[in-house]
Amino acid sequence: LNRRLTEFGTTIFAEMSALANRTGSINLGQGFPDTDGPESVREAAVRALRDGRGNQYPPGSGVPELREAIADHQRRFHGIGLDPDTEVLVTTGATEAIATALLALVEPGDEVIALEPYYDSYAACIALAGGRRVPVTLRPRDGAYHLDLDELRDAVTPRTRLILLNTPHNPTGTVLTRGELTAIAELAIERDLLVITDEVYEHLVFEGDHIPLASLPGMRERTVTISSAGKTFSFTGWKIGWVTSTPELVTAVRSAKQFLTYVSGGPFQYAVAEALRLPDSYFRELRDDLRAKRDLLSAGLAEAGFTVYRPAGTYFVTTDIRPLGESDGFAFCRSLPERCQVVAIPNAVFYDHRAEGAPFVRFAFCKRTDVLDEAVARLKRLT
Ligand code: GLN
Repeated sequence: LNRRLTEFGTTIFAEMSALANRTGSINLGQGFPDTDGPESVREAAVRALRDGRGNQYPPGSGVPELREAIADHQRRFHGIGLDPDTEVLVTTGATEAIATALLALVEPGDEVIALEPYYDSYAACIALAGGRRVPVTLRPRDGAYHLDLDELRDAVTPRTRLILLNTPHNPTGTVLTRGELTAIAELAIERDLLVITDEVYEHLVFEGDHIPLASLPGMRERTVTISSAGKTFSFTGWKIGWVTSTPELVTAVRSAKQFLTYVSGGPFQYAVAEALRLPDSYFRELRDDLRAKRDLLSAGLAEAGFTVYRPAGTYFVTTDIRPLGESDGFAFCRSLPERCQVVAIPNAVFYDHRAEGAPFVRFAFCKRTDVLDEAVARLKRLT
């Protein structure tokens, strides 16, 4: 294994899902729903397979039906107009979008600012691109995580190439406000930076609104927006994601993407095109359902003795385990299956400054209500 990758080991999601399977625990670790997405969308995938749509290499940018649906979705929900032929690129999930955007835009030695705690693929992909990650830490205060805009400003140097943003934010559930995004936009413009913004949880916002960075004045031309069907339609296994940006930046990202996978998920692309055209009620019901589950798990965890940072978005809730007399999230998560048959994720893996993340543990609530109830009952028995 080359030196760029040795520090990363096995992703925590694989480790913790294997632990859950081995011990028969309730898996509130890796974020995936335990109920599949809409039947009409599954039927659309079957139809595409059966009718021979997408069974051979689709176009490198994605099938036209999906690119048009992505552009229409961005207009419907965010008021952003896109040319489906030049400003949209279909990828193998948001994961490939992140990787290819970084590979395409980062020169070896460039600094990339990322909000810490960060989704684990960010660090590995910055390293693969030869970049240097510069974490800016979100800190818990008054029941939520906050970005310190002065720290962000101070992190920019002449070597900074781009900011890698994520809102709604995994794992903290923070949804950046218009004020924060405006400050980030002003900084990017002033220092001539690009921003890659990972908005895979765009529809999972329970408090306030999701504001796409690309919708702010002056940001269209310097923002690469990433999203995916995994979270919005509960098909994390399909791995259909997308990049939207200017023709120039989309071309750059495609230059890297064409040599990684070229294309993927042919029949699923047609199905996701239909999913993106579901009525507003679908998106509202998804959000309301998850809001209720957030409230249920947050209340249960608080009763079990955790300090709970109730998320404004995503399907994760971050907790502090110190009130339970624990301080090491890694040790806690490794012992949890044996103690009460529940699996969670130690937030420390999402930090460069591991000590900052040590006492925090993330639970996923994209699960059936009876499963969440049972998990809470088990966690209350923790001693
Ligand atoms: N994004 C999901 C999470 O944070 C997991 C994705 C993965 O397994 N790579 O839990």
